[in-house]
Amino acid sequence: MTRYDVAIVGGGPAGLNAAIVLGRCRRSVVVIDDGQPRNYAAREIHGYLGIEGVSPWELRQLGRREAARYGVEFIDAQVTRACTLACGDGNSRRDAFELSIADRPAIRCVKLLLATGVKDRLPEIAGLGDFYGVSVHHCPYCDGWEHRDQRIVALGAGPAAVGLALSLRTWSRQIVACTDGLKLAEADRQRASRNGIAIRQERAVRLEGTQGRLERLHFDAGPPLPCDALFFASELVQRSRLPSMLGCECDERGLILTKGKQGSGIPGLFLAGDADGDVQFSIVAAAEGAIAATAINRELQDEQRGEG
Ligand SMILES: Cc1cc2nc3c(=O)[nH]c(=O)nc-3n(C[C@H](O)[C@H](O)[C@H](O)COP(=O)(O)OP(=O)(O)OC[C@H]3O[C@@H](n4cnc5c(N)ncnc54)[C@H](O)[C@@H]3O)c2cc1C
Repeated sequence: MTRYDVAIVGGGPAGLNAAIVLGRCRRSVVVIDDGQPRNYAAREIHGYLGIEGVSPWELRQLGRREAARYGVEFIDAQVTRACTLACGDGNSRRDAFELSIADRPAIRCVKLLLATGVKDRLPEIAGLGDFYGVSVHHCPYCDGWEHRDQRIVALGAGPAAVGLALSLRTWSRQIVACTDGLKLAEADRQRASRNGIAIRQERAVRLEGTQGRLERLHFDAGPPLPCDALFFASELVQRSRLPSMLGCECDERGLILTKGKQGSGIPGLFLAGDADGDVQFSIVAAAEGAIAATAINRELQDEQRGEG
């Protein structure tokens, strides 16, 4: 059994920033991460103050180095189970959670931060993996600038394609909404047409291009569509089962509900980053990590004074 003041599951921007703040508060902290970040395919992170264009892996390395300076420990592994502990027998400290990791002793902690992120359900189109992160994206804020004034496909199920296409008009006037085999209602067609957006309603089946650069989208019928980039309407799922295992509540989009300063409503359990995120940017995830860390430290301070 290994014990820490704080265990952080997830070593992305949210978990790492929380670790830095808590390490600097002289807390014993462990970060456990199994190396499956949401942005695994991205080459650069955009919109991150001071280190614009840094690669996701470089940001993680920078964060780890910084946190290690303050005594934060790292375990590269998956947490397979988490449970809350009752006070009393066998739990003489104030430990509130126990984490299980395969082939390692269990970890106990007073406070637990889940920064476990989400994953995107990618569209099922042949060849998509070759282009994802270079010319296929889901977030116009993250990658729209790089494709400004280019020929962009907005792919989504029916009306979702039109919604995404309307948003992408901020970055280019050459937008085609692709509804992936679904027919649009007349109102959606007219809305697209009023805004200069072309429509394709066939099912998207294959991407073609070279070295990650998209050149054409092929459909199950009709001619291929020449294009430079494709954005898709993303569906999200939680990366980890740990939040639901511990009883966290989700909203209708599957994001974890938080209360106050990144609290979960479950004593001692906090959340940060995309898992509960609204604006899902790396810098916002990092900021939520800092907010959670200050709330955690305040609770530990109160409890140490016997006021918690
Ligand atoms: C292709 C792409 C491009 C993007 N580009 C940008 C951009 O340019 N700018 C920007 O601001 N944002 C961008 N984003 C969004 C950004 O990736 C997220 O906002 C950010 O990664 C969220 O950080 P996080 O710490 O919450 O989660 P993540 O970075 O996803 O980290 C979560 C970590 O938790 C770990 N984990 C989960 N469960 C467990 C478990 N049970 N045990 C151990 N470890 C676990 C995972 O392995 C992962 O490493 C992009 C996203 C994608 C998909």
